[in-house]
Formats: sequence, structure tokens, C-alpha cells
Amino acid sequence: MSLTGKTAIITGSNSGIGLGVARELAKAGAHVVLNSYTDTDEDHALAAEIAKMTGVDARYISADMSNGEECRRLIADAGGCDILVNNAGIQHVAPVQDFPSGKWDAIIAINLSSAFHTTAAAITGMRDKGYGRIVNIASAHGLTASPYKSAYVAAKHGIVGLTKTIGLETAREPITCNAVCPGYVLTPLVEAQIPDTMKEYDMSREDVIENVMLQRQPSKEFATVEQLGGTVAFLCSDAAAQITGTTISVDGGWTAL
Ligand code: NAD
Repeated sequence: MSLTGKTAIITGSNSGIGLGVARELAKAGAHVVLNSYTDTDEDHALAAEIAKMTGVDARYISADMSNGEECRRLIADAGGCDILVNNAGIQHVAPVQDFPSGKWDAIIAINLSSAFHTTAAAITGMRDKGYGRIVNIASAHGLTASPYKSAYVAAKHGIVGLTKTIGLETAREPITCNAVCPGYVLTPLVEAQIPDTMKEYDMSREDVIENVMLQRQPSKEFATVEQLGGTVAFLCSDAAAQITGTTISVDGGWTAL
């Protein structure tokens, strides 16, 4: 599959799934724009490394996805895009009565509202080009729930709803909008949950991985960032032109249970 000449913006892509998606899209020939809010030398070096490895143009643009204006500025500073991957996300785990309001607001802003703002800013340019692919990185938690993740589950269900709506709004155009729903992927976001869970259940790291995290993932394996990147690249291909307004699970069977 060739994405040569296309430009992809991937939000939250200095780590984990976003970085994996950026690498796979670059391997398929797309120019890539990496993003986070940190603006470090390492962030710019990641873009340089992708450019060196694949020969595409790769840039890093700093923008805070918790702020609607910044989301829209990212699209403007990149000069628009053919492919938009809304991936930036954070997590917080707590029972609802103890869930800090600030964490609720941040999760809704970064995991859900940012995709509204970037999509709104990018879609006119896609219409002008006659091609557009919007891929939202949702979660198995966009289709099912778990306790103590109220904000995350609400945001991920919200992004599945946004995906369906944009799929319908663009159904007669050469633009698609889909959500990818990963199960557990061993990234820094998941690593950060392991120590608390070990403490909470008095379990070893191995037990937490096998009996808590992968308990609902029938394959008993983490999905990989390369598999997520490959799924996004497929959604950008001509073969996927009639796939829109829907979800693709990459969850080892979780949502079949
Ligand atoms: P990660 O922590 O490795 O990456 C998160 C990315 O978001 C980082 O690049 C970070 O810089 C960026 N980010 C956070 N706040 C930001 C902000 N305010 N502005 C700009 N960027 C910001 O986590 P990950 O596991 O790679 O998660 C990526 C996405 O995949 C998230 O939306 C997450 O919900 C989703 N997801 C992850 C898993 C998993 O098991 N890892 C499963 C399902 C869904």
C-alpha cells in the first residue's frame, strides 16, 4: 500500500501507539507530523529519525491537545493534512466519588474534545484535496466499560459517537472517519497503571499483567504498536474506502466475550 505524497498528522505521537502509527505511516510513504505538548530535543529527534529511516518529510509540532485553540493551531501550522490520527490520550483510575474534577475535565478535553477541534479544522482542506482519512484511536473502553475509569470510558464512548457522526457527514465524499479500538497495548500509559494495581491487589507484576490486564483479553497477549500502525495504514488505503463511521477492534477478542 502506498501513501506516498500524503501528509499525516498524529496527535500525541512522541510515545506509544502514536509513535508506532507515525512510523508505520511513514514506512508506507506518508509525510508525518508528530505532536505532543512537551517540545523537547528528543521530540524533534524522533521526527528526524523517522525522516532518516524512511526518506519522508517528518516534523514535530508542539501543541497542547487539552486546549481547543491549540488543536486548531496544530492543523494550521502543519498546513492541513490528508490523514488525521486523533491519538493523544491520558488515563486516571479512581472510584467516581473520589475522581478529581480536574482529571475528569482533562481526560474529556484531551481524549475527546481535541478530536472535535482537529477534525473541524482539518476537514475543509480534505474536501479541497478530494481525499481524507480520519482515524480516532478509541479503545475497547469505547465499546465496553470497567469500574474506576468513568472519565476514560465516557470519553472513549464519546469518540465512537463522534466517529459515527463524522462518517455520516462525509459519507458522500472521498473522506472516511473510523475508530480503532485497541485492547491492552504495553505502552507508557499502561506501564504507569501496573505499580498501583500491584499495590491495590497485592500482586506481582506478572500476576497483574496476566490476571488483571489480560484477564479480559482472550488472546492473553498485548496488541503491539506496530499492529495498531498497520491497522491505521489499512484504513488509509483504497481498500478501506467504503469503511466509514465504524470501529475496528484490535483487542485479542476482548469485545467478543
Ligand atoms: P502514551 O502515554 O504512550 O501516549 C500518549 C500520548 O499522548 C503521548 O505522546 C503524550 O505526549 C500525548 N499527550 C498527552 N497529553 C497531551 C496533551 N495535552 N497534548 C498533546 N499530547 C498529549 O499512551 P498510549 O498507550 O500510546 O495511548 C495512546 C492512545 O491510545 C490514547 O488515546 C489511549 O487512550 C489509547 N489506548 C491505549 C491503550 C493501551 O493499552 N495502551 C488501549 C486502548 C486505547
